[in-house]
Amino acid sequence: AKARGKNTFHFFSPDLNEAANERLLIENQLREAIREHQFLLYYQPKIDIRDNTIIGYETLLRWLRPDNTLVPPLRFISVAESTGLIVQIGEWIIWEACRFLSRQHSRGYNVSLSINLSVRQFNDDNLPEIVARILQRTGADPASVIFEITESMLMGDTDAAINQLNQLKRLGVSLSIDDFGTGYSSLSYLKRFPVDELKIDRSFVKDIPDDRNDMDIVAAIIAMAQKMNLRVVAEGVETAEQVEFLRKNACYQVQGYYFSMPLAEQELSRLNYVINS
Ligand code: C2E
Ligand code: CA
Ligand code: CA
Ligand code: CA
Repeated sequence: AKARGKNTFHFFSPDLNEAANERLLIENQLREAIREHQFLLYYQPKIDIRDNTIIGYETLLRWLRPDNTLVPPLRFISVAESTGLIVQIGEWIIWEACRFLSRQHSRGYNVSLSINLSVRQFNDDNLPEIVARILQRTGADPASVIFEITESMLMGDTDAAINQLNQLKRLGVSLSIDDFGTGYSSLSYLKRFPVDELKIDRSFVKDIPDDRNDMDIVAAIIAMAQKMNLRVVAEGVETAEQVEFLRKNACYQVQGYYFSMPLAEQELSRLNYVINS
């Protein structure tokens, strides 16, 4: 085993170096991206499938490089997270998202806006204060703002997490557990957190209607959410069959390519869905 470990080390070390260099490169590019304002937000509609109306949007980060390539977040979020740069980027996201929400409301569109929070952002003691200031300065309606966190963010220091959630809730915003079902939430555990919404992870939705197991899991999550008085949203909905299944199981809020990909703000007017107002 020792010899194998050693071989493995030698075998992988060039790759590891490459990975480290890649991260350093991305880190430097991210610093430049912050300075040069290369980030932008895309918005994916959240649809009520009872009447096909847009009831909200989820904010999704994009990085538009000077060479015009659009970099998806999974390529750089982990570097932004490990370097702490995400805190600065994350604050910009909240500003930009709240300005977007205010614009929508001033046009008469009574939509909600979901904003993803990173681990570092969520663990930042200053977050409630930052959010309060942004809400105040942008005039965004707190009742229309939804912060998305993941189960893993609630797992470490649960008292600190509950305290942070309560402070955010006091601002009037609502809270959603993203990628629900992929972590380790038990029923009793979930009850301790003051959350308002569960987002069923795409991994459980994507094989409907072929995978009986996934259908049972999704039906169980929906039933549980109803029992606990939580809103439930299905993400990654791509087919009419999936919409039908969700409708039958009384999950009416959905997001996914079936309805729309995430779009830039100026593209949203092209959507065929009626906007709730
Ligand atoms: P997420 O929060 O679970 O976001 C959903 C992801 O699924 C998005 O990818 C979205 O474009 C994609 N998606 C939506 N509908 C479909 C569908 O029907 N099929 C498929 N295959 N995919 C669909 P995206 O924008 O690349 O974001 C990936 C992840 O990056 C997000 O997962 C989230 O964890 C993170 N992220 C995105 N924006 C932000 C942000 O502003 N802040 C933070 N902290 N994380 C973000
Ligand atoms: Ca999300
Ligand atoms: Ca998600
Ligand atoms: Ca996800």
